[in-house]
Amino acid sequence: MTCPYCAHACKLEVNEFGKCGVNFHGKGIECVVYGHPEALNIDPIEKKPLYHVLPGSSSLSLGTAGCNFHCDFCQNWQLSQKKPSQKTPLLSPEKIVQIAYDNNCESISCTYNEPAIFFPYAKDIANSDKKLKHIWVSNGFYSPFTCKELPKFVDAINIDLKAFSKDFYKQIGGDLDVVCKNLIKLHEAGVWIEVTTLLIPGRNDSKKELEAIADFIAKNLSKTVPWHISAFHPDYKALDLNPTPIQSLQEAYKIGKDAGLNYVYLGNCGLTNNTFCPECGNILIKRDYFHSELIGLDENFCCLTCKRPLEGVFS
Ligand code: SF4
Repeated sequence: MTCPYCAHACKLEVNEFGKCGVNFHGKGIECVVYGHPEALNIDPIEKKPLYHVLPGSSSLSLGTAGCNFHCDFCQNWQLSQKKPSQKTPLLSPEKIVQIAYDNNCESISCTYNEPAIFFPYAKDIANSDKKLKHIWVSNGFYSPFTCKELPKFVDAINIDLKAFSKDFYKQIGGDLDVVCKNLIKLHEAGVWIEVTTLLIPGRNDSKKELEAIADFIAKNLSKTVPWHISAFHPDYKALDLNPTPIQSLQEAYKIGKDAGLNYVYLGNCGLTNNTFCPECGNILIKRDYFHSELIGLDENFCCLTCKRPLEGVFS
């Protein structure tokens, strides 16, 4: 059988697991992490990062074991590279929704590892509730099936555009073209998208490559799609690399702004990350780490000064 969830399209013999280590050929394709999140936290939504989705709110955030990528620089490798155990308590989709309500969360985020590998669980959680917002934080390496289904139950996605090099994606077991095509399709389908790039010294931080990413967002998605440029810290198998210097982040920020992107943010580095009105420059949202204050927006999420609406998911 061919697994339908990600672009690896693993062809599985009976009892064989796919590359993610969580989907196998049993009675059909079975997902062994269904109902077994290995991490469940109440996070500020800014931590995803999503800066234009319900700012200042809490998001019930869950992830399972496993991933369809095996990046040597993974910042979440304890979870993503772990083998599934099923020893965690069984949490039904309805129970997850209940936990979100009990903790005053306004959204549920499938994050920490790749949600496409636990697609049936993520979908059932979203379909158990229509009042909360449903969010994915993802590498975007979807099958056509997953990409077509996602807009039916996901409100917002942060997708990693890890580099703009086919070789880079090949090394981590992905495909740049697939991720780019999926980003375009989801944007066209009306899902709110924010893009993140983890800036790894010497691996993806050349001026040319960053210009290509910024250009892709501006021309193929929209200048209003936020670009989060995130600082790398040595982790997992990439301990020999240096942390991202602040200067590189600031240069990347300038590249994003020069490409015409309205919203460029620097993450993981302790800098303030305010949202400014692209029309008049007024501060709309003041952010300090994961704390947001909506200081320049009216009740309709328009700029108090010039009335330009801010793009995002706000209600
Ligand atoms: S989710 Fe992807 S990696 Fe996992 S079995 Fe399916 S196709 Fe393979």
